[in-house]
Amino acid sequence: MLELRPNCETCDTDLPNGASAYICTFECTFCAPCAEGTHKRTCPNCGGDLQARPTRPERLLGKYPASTKRVVKKAG
Ligand SMILES: [Zn+2]
Ligand SMILES: [Zn+2]
Repeated sequence: MLELRPNCETCDTDLPNGASAYICTFECTFCAPCAEGTHKRTCPNCGGDLQARPTRPERLLGKYPASTKRVVKKAG
């Protein structure tokens, strides 16, 4: 199951469930401007491709809540 991390690793902008976010296979998480612009849809951590993150239906968030643990890479 996805963690649904709450922020962009590069710029620390908020990415709540439903926001336009991108993830790699290890779920490194980025906002759209960072993923498309800065990283050219390639994960800067693992080199994998970045894909649009699926949205978790609201009715399932009670049972399967999104992660609240922020992950930020200071090096960008
Ligand atoms: Zn960002
Ligand atoms: Zn990655």
